[in-house]
Amino acid sequence: MSHQVKSGQHSVSRVPGAIVLCTSILLAACSDPQSPQPESPSAASPQAPTAASGPTSFGQIDDARLNNAPNEPENWLATGGSQLAQRFSALDQINLDTIADLKPAWSMDFDTMRGQESTPIVVDGVVYVTTAWSKVYAADARTGEQLWQYDPQVPGKAGFKGCCDVINRGPAVYQGKVFAGTYDGRLLALDAKTGALLWSAQTTDPDSMFSVAGAPRVANGLVFIGNGSSGEFGGRGFVSAYNVDSGELAWRFYLTPGDPAVPDGAASDEIMDSIVQPTWFGPHTDYRGGANVWNSMVYDPEYDQLYVATGNGFPWVRKFRSDNKGDNLFISSIVALDARTGRYKWHYQETPGDSWDYDSVADIILTELTLDGQPRKVLMHTPKNGFFYVIERGTGKLLSAEPYVPGVTWASHVDLETGRPAVAENAYYDDEPVRLSPGEGGGHSWQPTAFSPVTGLMYLQANAYASTRYIPRESYEFVKGMDYMGLWHFVSHGPGEAPDPNEPPPPTPQTYLLAWDPVKQEAVWKTDGRGAGVLATAGNLVFQGFSRNVVMGELAAFRADTGEKVWSHPTPNAIITGPVTYSLDGEQYVVAATGAGGGSIIAASDDVRMPQVGRLVAFKLNGTATLPAEPPPARPIEPPTETFAPELVARGAELYVGFCTRCHGFGARSANIIPDLRRSPALGNAELWEAIVQQGALESRGMINWSHLLPDDGAAEALRAYVVEQARASVR
Ligand code: CA
Repeated sequence: MSHQVKSGQHSVSRVPGAIVLCTSILLAACSDPQSPQPESPSAASPQAPTAASGPTSFGQIDDARLNNAPNEPENWLATGGSQLAQRFSALDQINLDTIADLKPAWSMDFDTMRGQESTPIVVDGVVYVTTAWSKVYAADARTGEQLWQYDPQVPGKAGFKGCCDVINRGPAVYQGKVFAGTYDGRLLALDAKTGALLWSAQTTDPDSMFSVAGAPRVANGLVFIGNGSSGEFGGRGFVSAYNVDSGELAWRFYLTPGDPAVPDGAASDEIMDSIVQPTWFGPHTDYRGGANVWNSMVYDPEYDQLYVATGNGFPWVRKFRSDNKGDNLFISSIVALDARTGRYKWHYQETPGDSWDYDSVADIILTELTLDGQPRKVLMHTPKNGFFYVIERGTGKLLSAEPYVPGVTWASHVDLETGRPAVAENAYYDDEPVRLSPGEGGGHSWQPTAFSPVTGLMYLQANAYASTRYIPRESYEFVKGMDYMGLWHFVSHGPGEAPDPNEPPPPTPQTYLLAWDPVKQEAVWKTDGRGAGVLATAGNLVFQGFSRNVVMGELAAFRADTGEKVWSHPTPNAIITGPVTYSLDGEQYVVAATGAGGGSIIAASDDVRMPQVGRLVAFKLNGTATLPAEPPPARPIEPPTETFAPELVARGAELYVGFCTRCHGFGARSANIIPDLRRSPALGNAELWEAIVQQGALESRGMINWSHLLPDDGAAEALRAYVVEQARASVR
């Protein structure tokens, strides 16, 4: 069976039942030994390339090519485009004069739904991309024809590891291999030509809550991989380097301290004792830590060093993590490591003693800026805490830091002499709640950012005046598997806390695409919109993906110098990551992975649709493809007529906040990326509901068996009562 997608036609029906059918057929085809992949790709062989008929090589990227990537804009060789990670392309065929003719070139369906956060790699006529559930695809970059797919068979119950969907941010490609992380913590090396598995390394403790969703990076014969989840579920973040040929661990660096009596035998041991342990107070516990490297890593060939960007500490609240004192290295930091040995070189901590979920995981971007008349080799960074940092790459010295969004309240400024933020007096919510901006969502989070050396501007999606009301708890209890961060979460007021009628309403957040001058440290333009990752090009353009009603999307382009919106095209799926660009046969393409999810799995929508598969969508000038149709409306809410005791509903409401909100949304309302429970066919069937909640009936899809965490005393029925009431309220 052919499941490729060619220009102008599409093989997957939009009828909901048919999606399931096709998905299972795709799975069957991919595991069918009679099918042409993975051993014998049908496209042109590498021995006999022709100019316009197929791939000319499979993943033949080496260090020289990576280091020279800005001069090879016809390919997109690394997740950030090059080792500078600027997400900038010198291609300019698509520009202000031609962009009106930018139209769909092709699309390729994945066989997974849920969030697609991958940044593709494009090399020598092949697009390599990862998907939700950590699957890996190779596709012909001219046509979108699938060359191979690899499914690492991540168990459904691993979907529970992590806060924000079973996403994957993309592969790395190097020396004929494709590297990708899996949500259950493996690092895979695949043959770039066939998709065959070459080796697999378990990079995390499989019994832990750690997941791997970030893209690997490569240099010097090593592949670097971080991990996620410990900022919300406990444990010590670390980064590892593996030999690209053998899959052997070359080095590991821990970002937070362990038991001082038990050295790790890791590259970080020496620095742990000398500078890290002294910044932590209170007893060591198995769960305290955080500082996951869950998004950005950049290898800098000029210094032969790897920068890693770290997440917040765990528990979030410093009084439960470190006796209410200390900077807690290396949470919310950038750490520079010797790329060959993993040894510490320098660090800069952006949020010392963080208690606010200020992950410092945004894209690190390298460039050279002229500051005070002096050329400086710098990295630029826009972490969640709202400040734009310019840091000297050779030394880690802070050169400048200014808020890139207005309304930042957790700190008034950053002192350039000490490099430390001036933290607001009431910021640590030891006893009293406090509302702070940017809040846990950040002024910007992980979404790809770009820097154009042509305009000299940095481009990023910004969230101004976003805020969180941090509500203290009196005591702390760790429960493995639960996101107990030490504060009341997902509620506006703590239990027994009466809302204060005199409390001013929180400021209304503003979301926009921001162009920022990193030399003057000031905004140059802003264009309103709730977008995602960006791409800058020499065509004086910035491309950005968007969501419409959460689940559908749009790709748009803006003038890089003024922010004027010059083009857009709807896409059936939301775009929550960044697009990339490449060129083949003299034609420039822009391609993006599409699919709603990630942090927006909990978002509600006023236009709830059936789930749809994710897909790659490519555009070129005068493209002639038709994109698939938008997904149809979700099945209507038809609540059962049963009534429940108010006490049961109230208990269900309380359980729901703690156990269900993170995936199914506030008040049981969601955009149906993960099922909108008000529409669940199980809602009127107590037995079926119980089987799903307490017996794992849907575990293969990521809904775990909750029996080890939920009390076995009618908790499932209380949850059903609450959701039924919410469903009824929705149709009243
Ligand atoms: Ca976090």
